Amino acid sequence: MKSLTEGALYRNTLRTLETAGEIINLNRNALERLKLPRRAIAVSVPVKMDDGRVQIFPGYRVQHNQALGPFKGGLRYHQSVNLSEVAALSMLMTFKNSLLGLPLGGAKGGVTVNPNQLSTNELEHLTRRFTSELSPFIGPDEDIPAPDVGTDSQTMAWMLDTYSMESGFSQTGVVTGKPIEIGGSQGRECATGLGVVYVTEKALATRGKKIQGATMAIQGFGKVGMHAAIEAFALGAKVVAVSDVTGAIYHPEGLNITDVKKYIDENKVLKGYPNAQTIDGEELLELDVDVLAPCALDGVINSTNVDRIKAPIIVEGANGPVTVNASDELYKRNTMIIPDILANGGGVVVSYFEWVQDIVWLFWHEDEVRQKLKTIMYRSFDTVFDFHKEMGTNLRLSAMGVSLKRLEKAMKLRGQAW
Ligand code: NAD
Repeated sequence: MKSLTEGALYRNTLRTLETAGEIINLNRNALERLKLPRRAIAVSVPVKMDDGRVQIFPGYRVQHNQALGPFKGGLRYHQSVNLSEVAALSMLMTFKNSLLGLPLGGAKGGVTVNPNQLSTNELEHLTRRFTSELSPFIGPDEDIPAPDVGTDSQTMAWMLDTYSMESGFSQTGVVTGKPIEIGGSQGRECATGLGVVYVTEKALATRGKKIQGATMAIQGFGKVGMHAAIEAFALGAKVVAVSDVTGAIYHPEGLNITDVKKYIDENKVLKGYPNAQTIDGEELLELDVDVLAPCALDGVINSTNVDRIKAPIIVEGANGPVTVNASDELYKRNTMIIPDILANGGGVVVSYFEWVQDIVWLFWHEDEVRQKLKTIMYRSFDTVFDFHKEMGTNLRLSAMGVSLKRLEKAMKLRGQAW
């Protein structure tokens, strides 16, 4: 178990679990159970490369907890993937799914590979062999993978096909994040960004404000940031700044996000966008706006810039954008930080909808998906905010507290904690 628990992310996640566990007086047996995953699967994946060599890639799937339902979580392809990181991420999925009230447990997986160095043919072979190695452990009722860093809807389509070949009939419910044509859900692509905006609306409301006319700065214009910007703009927010890896753009009266999206579709990057001022990426984080939504990278708000952060509300669209030290500093200034586990939960909520639709073979219109997503995000925000008011804990610990209470109840009912 040592290699599983020795990574920094695992140790940090354990610390959060223990701190939140103390606050809710978490049952001792439940705490001990949650500290380790139920099962960790390590495989070696041989791939016949285009030049005829066979290369072996390490792959993992860690199934953390299934007290609430089947295991669920992403699969990433990245050169830094290791067992301990995957295990920590699987634990975070257990907490996220519990917080959002989903009937799902937590899992995560990955292959140590730089996907940009493989041809499409090699990636397909890697995915099919990895799926085959995992097939005794995954399935619509057992464990349902989804895309993550370095994987996409095509990866999920290959997984679905391989799993279905082995079981003898089509099994669309084995993965989520698939293309619509083979059982994917409407609204999956924009789900995380929409979730960011729904919790932003709620956060503003607690301070007597509406999203209409509120000023926002959004870091990152990818799957999360772009859809958050589009939705916020559609609802009447003044999105004054957005950024990507090539820089940031700013307009004091609010950017026309429809026009920015058109520019991105044609040019791929924000650099050179003509109808706004260019500002430094760091400057975006320090703007005096109602809401700052970091939706790109982890650790971008840290002890070096925290003194210059002015936004009274920060919505963590990315995973871990505000460091622990910076969070402590911001709490002292009464800054509201909506934690990632809540703010970027929209993606897994719509993944859950996709799984449900595949089970009943009844597919919903995008409006229905959005409405149901909004209901869950609003409800989750309210539950966390009520806990925060009652217990006086910050929103990050409150989100963990809500999540652990639900898990503890399920574990007690199952006889896993007494
Ligand atoms: P993405 O690759 O689609 O987009 C990332 C964006 O960030 C791009 O626009 C990129 O140009 C920009 N970026 C990179 N470096 C930057 C920098 N230094 N300054 C400003 N912008 C920069 O990724 P994504 O899926 O949008 O994920 C973003 C974050 O959200 C990650 O932390 C991810 O783990 C998290 N997240 C994503 C989802 C999802 O459904 N996609 C769900 C939960 C959490």
